[in-house]
Amino acid sequence: MAVSLLDLPKQNEPYFEQMRKAFDDFLVSGQYVMGSKVTGFEEEFAAYIGVSDAIAVSSGTDALLLALMALEIGPGDEVICPSFTFFATAGVVHRVGATPVFADIEADSFNIDPDDISTKITEKTKAIIPVHLFGQCADMTRIHTIAEAHKLHVIEDSAQAIGSKHHGKVAGAIGSFGSFSFYPTKNLSAFGDAGLLSTNDPELAKFARILRIHGGERRYYHSYVGGNFRFDPIQGALLSLKLPGIDCFNEKRHMNAQAYWKHLSTHVDIALAGTDEASEARIILPSIESENNHTWHQFTIRVKGEGTRDALSSHLQSKQIGHGVYYPLGLHQQECFQSHIDDRSKSLPVTEKTCEEVLSIPIHPELDKTDLQEVCDAILSFLDQ
Ligand SMILES: *Cc1c(COP(=O)(O)O)cnc(C)c1O
Repeated sequence: MAVSLLDLPKQNEPYFEQMRKAFDDFLVSGQYVMGSKVTGFEEEFAAYIGVSDAIAVSSGTDALLLALMALEIGPGDEVICPSFTFFATAGVVHRVGATPVFADIEADSFNIDPDDISTKITEKTKAIIPVHLFGQCADMTRIHTIAEAHKLHVIEDSAQAIGSKHHGKVAGAIGSFGSFSFYPTKNLSAFGDAGLLSTNDPELAKFARILRIHGGERRYYHSYVGGNFRFDPIQGALLSLKLPGIDCFNEKRHMNAQAYWKHLSTHVDIALAGTDEASEARIILPSIESENNHTWHQFTIRVKGEGTRDALSSHLQSKQIGHGVYYPLGLHQQECFQSHIDDRSKSLPVTEKTCEEVLSIPIHPELDKTDLQEVCDAILSFLDQ
C-alpha cells in the first residue's frame, strides 16, 4: 500500500460539516475580503502564541516581506539568514532592495549557526532572519544575545514552526516579528495561500497594518507605499475551526517521530543525530535539542555516502512511499543570487553537504501504525539489500 507524504482531505474530514456551514455563511455574507472573520482569527492566533498583535496577510512570503517593509529595511542594508531554507526567506530580502548574507547551519539541528552569524555582521547589517526549520526552533538564546549586542532586529521565519518552543518561549513571539504560513502543506493549513505576521510591539503592528493595505490609514490617502497583503475571511473562518486542534495535530506528529526512533534505531547502521554512534551510521535520524520542543513539520533524515540519498529515494519511489528532498540546493548556490552575494556567502560547507544528504519521510498526523511500519520496512530493506 502506498504511503503519501501528506493527506489533506483526511486531515480536514473531521471538520467537513462545520466547514460546509462556514462556506454557506461566507457565500451569503457579502464580505469576501477582510472583515470580522479575519480579525477574529487574528485575535485567536495572537492568544495562541501569546503576542499582542497578529496581522493576517496573503501568504507566509508576504508576512516576511511586510516585516522587512515595516522595519524600513532597504537598499544598502544587509540581512543575515540561512541558505538552507525555503526560497522566500532570502527572496524577500532581495525584493526590498537589501542584500541577503547567508550563514551556515548546525549539522544536527539544520538551523542557522550563531557562530557563523557573528562572523558575518558588518556596519550594514540590519536584521537576522532565523528560520525554525522543520519545526524546531533555531538557537534563539544565542541569536538574541548577538542581536542585542549589535542592535539588530530579529524576524523569526516560523512558517514551519507553529506551536514550537525554545526554553518555553513560543516561536514567533521572541523576535521583533514572527512570520507564519498557512500554505496547505504547513502544520496549520489553509485552503489556498494565507499567512500571518506576529509581534509584541504595538507600534510596529500599527505600521504593518497600514502597509498591509497600500500604506493608507484612510482609504485613498497614502502616507507610505505599502502593498496588497489582504487576507480572505473564508480562510479566517476555516482556520478558526482548525486552530484549536493544532497542539493535538503536533502531538500526533511527535508520536510518529517517536515511532520512527523506536523502529529504525534498532538497526546498527542507523543512529540519532548528536549521539556518538552517529559518526559511524549510514542513516542519521533527526533529534531534538534539549531546550526545544519539536512540531515536526518534516522528519528529515540524513543519508550518508555519495549518491546514497538518491538511491534511497529511488527505492522508496519503487515502494510508493512518499518522500521529499528539502532542500536540494542552498540559496547561496541559486543562480538568481550569484551576482548579488559577496565572498561571505559563497562557501557554506555544512549547508552544501546537507543538501546532498537530506530526505524527508512522511510524518503527518493522519498516518496510522501500518503506514509507519511500511515506511520503516522500506528503509530497513534498503540498508539490508
Ligand atoms: C512555506 C515557507 C515560507 C513561505 O510561505 P508561503 O505561505 O508559501 O508564502 C517561508 N519560509 C519558510 C521556511 C517556509 O517553509
